[in-house]
This record gives sequence, structure tokens and C-alpha cells, in this order.
Amino acid sequence: LSSYLIDGKAVSKATLAKVGAEAAALISRGLTPGLAVVLVGSDAASQVYVGAKGKAAKDCGFHSLQFDLPETTGQAELLALVRRLNADPQVHGILVQLPLPRQVDSTTILETIAPEKDVDGFHPINVGLAAIGAFDRALIPCTPAGSMILIDHACEALGRKLDGAEAVIIGRSNIVGKPMAQLLLRESATVTVAHSKTRDLAGECRRAEILVVAAGRPEMVRGDWIMPGAVVIDVGINRVAGLQPGTTRLVGDVAFAEASQVAGAITPVPGGVGPMTIAMLLSNTVTACCRQNGLPDD
Ligand code: NDP
Repeated sequence: LSSYLIDGKAVSKATLAKVGAEAAALISRGLTPGLAVVLVGSDAASQVYVGAKGKAAKDCGFHSLQFDLPETTGQAELLALVRRLNADPQVHGILVQLPLPRQVDSTTILETIAPEKDVDGFHPINVGLAAIGAFDRALIPCTPAGSMILIDHACEALGRKLDGAEAVIIGRSNIVGKPMAQLLLRESATVTVAHSKTRDLAGECRRAEILVVAAGRPEMVRGDWIMPGAVVIDVGINRVAGLQPGTTRLVGDVAFAEASQVAGAITPVPGGVGPMTIAMLLSNTVTACCRQNGLPDD
């Protein structure tokens, strides 16, 4: 390994400590940040994510509510719950875990969450605020927000500036790729968003000083796609067959062993972007709580 290893666990711990301190200050004023997490069905990965989010919220002293609804839950029932949480003054953040079962229209559910309580940042109002650069009023999706903190951390460690840097993102999803582009533009990087129709993906990657990969393709980005010294953020989480028969392991979208010989800084999987996502969810909840109570949020 010749690159600087970006330790997402350590950075997330520091972020959570800050969020915990902010929560404690609010609690001492009689205001406890409240986060409601809604899970529909029994998808194993979703259960793990929701459990981890609830635990982190409790650890930070939040009022943490979890709603486990059966797979058969209908649209009307879920809408009624979201509306009840919208109206509950003890709840400052609402997260409906995706994916939702087929009978429920995710878009309608996400658009029903009050924008000021939308701590996932998926409501069109928040998406629009980020698009016009009104980051002080928007809630930003957690994974790209966490990735941005890791990029800042790496640039500081390497003595780099983002201003004017060539940034390439692989993936154009609403959850990761597009909001990541907004955040990098805010820092005045020159941003390229690549996707499955991009003609020369390896060539695009090779000119990236900052490379963010969110494609969901195990170890797709090879070592020789990376510009020597680049900052590489691997958002992908892919479960693949392990070395022993019958076992599995997690890998990112970047071939880590190769890439870490070339990159200036790189995130591991696991232990990179993943831990930051939960930290940013709690950070968004504190921000939402402050804004809903007319307090400064920075
Ligand atoms: P999506 O499937 O919604 O989007 C994937 C994007 O990658 C699409 O824009 C797609 O292009 C592009 N893509 C797919 N294959 C290729 C290819 N061969 N070449 C170039 N581009 C390609 O995924 P998400 O954005 O939701 O997630 C991406 C990854 O990040 C997944 O592995 C997911 O598990 C992980 N993730 C991790 C999180 C964390 O906390 N660390 C949180 C959220 C996601 P097109 O639009 O043309 O189809």
C-alpha cells in the first residue's frame, strides 16, 4: 500500500462526537433531537442498516423511534404514518428505509415527508435547494455528504486544493452521483459525471484528480485507470463470494489492492464511506432540529 488510507471509521467517530456534543447542548436547553426510522418488510440488509441508525441515534442521546411495519403494509397506511410523524413536534427527522415493497409508490411516500424533516435529503424541495446552491437551507443526502468530508480530509492530508481540480464521478443516481456532483461544484472542482453509456470510462478516470465511484459493480475500476496521486472515494458496497467455499466478503467498486499502489489517498471497503453515511444522518437530524426551532445550525 503506497497511498494514504482514508479511515472512514475514525472520521465518522470524530463526526459523531461533534454531533453528540451538539445534541447535548440542545438537550440542556430542553430540546432533544428526534429521529424516526420507518422500515417496511424484512429485507435483511435494510434491517441491519435501520438497526445501526437507531443505535447510533440513541448513542448520541437522541429521541429515537423505530417503526417496523409488515411487508404487506399498504400505501394509505404508510402515508398516514408519515403524516403523523410530520405533525409530531418531538420528531425532527424522518427516514423511510428504501427499497419499499412493490405495492407502495416510493416517490409519493418520499414527497409526503415534510421537507424540513427529510434527513435523507431525497425530497424534490431539498434536491432543488442543493441544485440552486442554497446549501444553507437544504438537507443533503447522507452518503455524498459523508464522501465530501472524506475528500476534504484527504485533501488536507495531501496538501491539495479542490478549487479547479478535475473531479470524476462514476454513477448518476439521485442518492449518490448527482448530489455528489453538486457538492463538488460548490467547492469549485471541474466535475464530470460518468455512467453506463460513457464511451471511454477508463480514459475519463485517468484524468481525475478526485475520483468518486458509485456504480455498484464489484472491483470495476482497475489500478491502471487511476491517475498517480489521485484521491479515490469508493462508495460501492458489493457482497461477493469469499476465498473459502460458502463464505462471502464485501468489496467496493474499485480493485483496492491495485488502486492503493497508485492513488494518493483511498477509502477502504468496508470502513470507508459506509460509516460516514450514518454519521451524516445524525448530523442532518441535529441541523433539522435547530432549523425547526429557530436556532443557528452551524
Ligand atoms: P444505482 O444503481 O442507482 O446507480 C448506479 C450508477 O452507476 C448508474 O448511474 C449507472 O449508470 C452507473 N453504472 C452502472 N454500471 C456501470 C458501468 N459498468 N460503467 C459506468 N457506469 C455504470 O446505485 P446507487 O447510486 O444507489 O449506489 C451505487 C453503489 O453505492 C452501490 O454499490 C451501493 O451499494 C453503494 N451505496 C453505498 C452507500 C454507503 O453508505 N456506502 C449508500 C448508497 C449506495 P446508468 O445511470 O447509465 O444506469
